[in-house]
Amino acid sequence: MTSKHALPSYLNPEDLGPWGVYLEQIDRVTPYLGNLSRWVETLKRPKRILTVDVPIERDDGTIAHYEGYRVQHNLSRGPGKGGVRFHQDVTLSEVMALSAWMTVKNAAVNVPYGGAKGGIRVDPKTLSRNELQRLTRRYTSEISMIIGPNKDIPAPDVNTNEQVMAWMMDSYAMIGGNMSTGVVTGKPISLGGSLGRRDATGRGVFVVGCDAAAKVGMSLEGAKVIVQGFGNVGGVAARMFAEAGSKVVAVQDHKTTVVHSGGLNIPQLLAHVAEVGSVEGFSGAEAFVPREDFWGIDCDILIPAALEQQITAERAQVIRAKIILEGANGPTLPAADDILTDRGVLIVPDVLANAGGVTVSYFEWAQNFSSFFWTEEEINSRLTRIMREAFDAVWQVSQEKKVSMRTATFILACTRVLQAREVRGLYP
Ligand code: GLU
Repeated sequence: MTSKHALPSYLNPEDLGPWGVYLEQIDRVTPYLGNLSRWVETLKRPKRILTVDVPIERDDGTIAHYEGYRVQHNLSRGPGKGGVRFHQDVTLSEVMALSAWMTVKNAAVNVPYGGAKGGIRVDPKTLSRNELQRLTRRYTSEISMIIGPNKDIPAPDVNTNEQVMAWMMDSYAMIGGNMSTGVVTGKPISLGGSLGRRDATGRGVFVVGCDAAAKVGMSLEGAKVIVQGFGNVGGVAARMFAEAGSKVVAVQDHKTTVVHSGGLNIPQLLAHVAEVGSVEGFSGAEAFVPREDFWGIDCDILIPAALEQQITAERAQVIRAKIILEGANGPTLPAADDILTDRGVLIVPDVLANAGGVTVSYFEWAQNFSSFFWTEEEINSRLTRIMREAFDAVWQVSQEKKVSMRTATFILACTRVLQAREVRGLYP
């Protein structure tokens, strides 16, 4: 994707990748920012980018090097906040975009954070558990000068989990010589993690799904749902929709696409995935279909919960859902966004739909500061309230200004970020 923007010199203007998608989204919101638009360039430049070499000794004695990043996109409203992903396709453009979407997301649900994201270009499936631990610890050490409970707080993302967060917390504690549990969120409960954090992103997707269904007059009972990605987000969301009486008629993961027109048995599918690592070979399937067929499957709700840039213009033409709930970050390309919006599909954007994870991360961080822990009911009801209030506020803006829910979320969020930017003023 080429761009008319003044680009940071480290990006290839011919191939902006996910950062180009984000810039396009900022262009769409700019006309709605009034006088604050004089600050909009702030949003087009990450505040701080750290690229690190992460060397580890492999189990066979060889030395391997991996490239890692931590990008702090914006710190106007608070410390940086956002996950760390381990994936073979991680690029700087991707981590920049993900960090910027965290800025927007955190402002959309009004948690007191800026936006940040990290990643290492590595396929973690090729590493042993000990190698993964060494990689995580060395990465933490390399970024330790810019993270901290009041500076920037990492969390899980694609292919990282509670164990990785425990290693990050421990490495940070060893480097600093003191314990500060609030340096990462998504930790194991035994280390100061929060009840409800594991399910929080999927639960948030379900909560906004209920609200979106109410807006279009759809009953969740019997609604047909298809889900791309069956990890911590897609798996939990699928379970909650199934519990609400919806029929999850297709699930696609990195290996295959499993369908059942009567509705897949989600508890059984989750158990199968926990055992073999994929939906492949699930005995409760009606059929396994070619990857590309997933997009045209008859359904009411589509939940992309895998990686970015999945819903292209071509796929947008065949999608049959009336509601799309973006569990993943950045799954929809701007051209596809336009096609779907024109077709009357209601898209609840990533920066709203998947904000449940960071919302409970915020609860975890607050609990860590006070060393006082809340019950799971308290967490879930506060999460539900925040998600519903954010959904309502975005819905109202989208109706008033006649814009998509994505642009409405950006209007609310970017206004909050730039107001903070303006009132703080420039230093020195
Ligand atoms: N990785 C999650 C996200 O994309 C959660 C981030 C966090 O909890 O800080 O929203």
